Amino acid sequence: MNILAVMEQRHGQWHRMSFETLAAAQQFAAQLGATASAAVVGRGTAALAAELAVRRLDKVYAVEHDLLGEYTPDGYCLALRQLIERVQPSVVLFPHTYQVRDFLPKLATSLGRVAVSDAVSHRIENGQVVLVRQLFQGKLNVDVRFLGEGPHFASLQAGAYRADQVAEGAATVEAFAPRISADQIRTRPQEPFRESQRAVDLGAAEIIVSVGRGIKEADNIPLIQKLADVLGAELAASRPICDAGWLPMERQVGSSGQTVTPKMYLAVGISGAIQHLVGMKGSRTIVAINKDANAPIFEVADYGIVGDLFQIVPELIEAIKKVK
Ligand SMILES: Cc1cc2nc3c(=O)[nH]c(=O)nc-3n(C[C@H](O)[C@H](O)[C@H](O)COP(=O)(O)OP(=O)(O)OC[C@H]3O[C@@H](n4cnc5c(N)ncnc54)[C@H](O)[C@@H]3O)c2cc1C
Repeated sequence: MNILAVMEQRHGQWHRMSFETLAAAQQFAAQLGATASAAVVGRGTAALAAELAVRRLDKVYAVEHDLLGEYTPDGYCLALRQLIERVQPSVVLFPHTYQVRDFLPKLATSLGRVAVSDAVSHRIENGQVVLVRQLFQGKLNVDVRFLGEGPHFASLQAGAYRADQVAEGAATVEAFAPRISADQIRTRPQEPFRESQRAVDLGAAEIIVSVGRGIKEADNIPLIQKLADVLGAELAASRPICDAGWLPMERQVGSSGQTVTPKMYLAVGISGAIQHLVGMKGSRTIVAINKDANAPIFEVADYGIVGDLFQIVPELIEAIKKVK
């Protein structure tokens, strides 16, 4: 039994979720008594494959072809399908990225299988994988089991597994050259969509103070900035704050923003929607200020203050100043 993690890279740079998928593959393998392997697809993947060769894996497959230099759904499906037919993994795991959403249904269908998308966790029952998916914006969790013969396909939600839990080891690298011809690729990649320039690296911040819609209006943001300043923290926000242009997009935390794991994450006036939680739940200590005692943010918080932020934050600033 073999678990295959398909890593994502672009122009030699890993997608940050790739190593979360690798950690998951290692966990699946350990719990199932199986081996874990990883695949990297592209052109000139030797350096990336070498990086994987120092992890606890059975094999690293460097799937190489000139036509894989730029991502195309046809190219990736052809290459991965041939690899899967040769390697015969029982479960194939992917990060739930935009690229994977684009090609995974086609890949799974081409092999007569379905794909379980955006899983948030798993457990093993009677030697079988049970995946957990969320429905209705995280209000319901459902268990999903694979039926029939493998290979089984699943993509994993950002933040569901921790990249820092990837185990080190040694693996052999095997080059795999798929057969692809130019006429099989029906799309020509354009310039990729440019994400906003990241002047701020929230990923490196030790303390983050994050503000949500509870702040009411843009004119109140300086209050939270003051709190961040006295704590020596970076300022971040939930999506509605960035959508409204009250803070730049690069400060957004969550599934469509940055994933952060600071020593302390202080959420002020943030409800704790699942799309926000996936970006910050790996923080070492989470503190939440919210006037609603039932806000979901309190389910992940280590410390919670129930009350009006406009009363609490000024008092907190004064108290921190005194301690300092
Ligand atoms: C595809 C998709 C991607 C998304 N990506 C992201 C993402 O990356 N990041 C993200 O954050 N969201 C994302 N969202 C949006 C997400 O679903 C929520 O809508 C959003 O996180 C809510 O932001 P919020 O908590 O600031 O606002 P709300 O949900 O409106 O919560 C405001 C909170 O403030 C509290 N509050 C109000 N007044 C006060 C006060 N005076 N004092 C104290 N507390 C107060 C309220 O009790 C409430 O809990 C995404 C949604 C979708 C569909």
